Amino acid sequence: MYCRNCGAAVNEKAEVCMSCGVRPLNGNKFCQECGAETSEKQEICTKCGCRLVGAGSSGVKIDGSSGMVYPSDPPKSPTTATLLSCFITGIGQIYLGQTLKGIVWLIGGILLSLATGGILALPIWIAVMVDAYRIGKKLESGQPVGQWEFF
Ligand SMILES: [Zn+2]
Ligand SMILES: [Zn+2]
Repeated sequence: MYCRNCGAAVNEKAEVCMSCGVRPLNGNKFCQECGAETSEKQEICTKCGCRLVGAGSSGVKIDGSSGMVYPSDPPKSPTTATLLSCFITGIGQIYLGQTLKGIVWLIGGILLSLATGGILALPIWIAVMVDAYRIGKKLESGQPVGQWEFF
């Protein structure tokens, strides 16, 4: 196999690469199967078709199972989220990745507005926009947020 850090051929059982001193799979610059150059975010080697292994699976993703929303790359715009929630309550939150929260805002907002004869419609509308903006800002600054994190 090849060192994923420097591309040197290394023994299958080697703890560290003898050329660079790094654990052979602790890199993202070369394919461990054929030694071809790979890029940081690549998952499959374009030369041999093998799945690249290693520590570098820190890719940006929305992971519903952990209940966290991770920042996307490029980051989603807080302004777009605010505008979306301005038009339809909760859509901005769904856009940002807080799907469930957005749906609850949407349905809950309508129900609460109806139940209060529209008295709460304006405060909810404003709160949802502020929420979308602040959550968007956190994600934009690279900070993960909880599925149910508010403001
Ligand atoms: Zn190496
Ligand atoms: Zn390869």
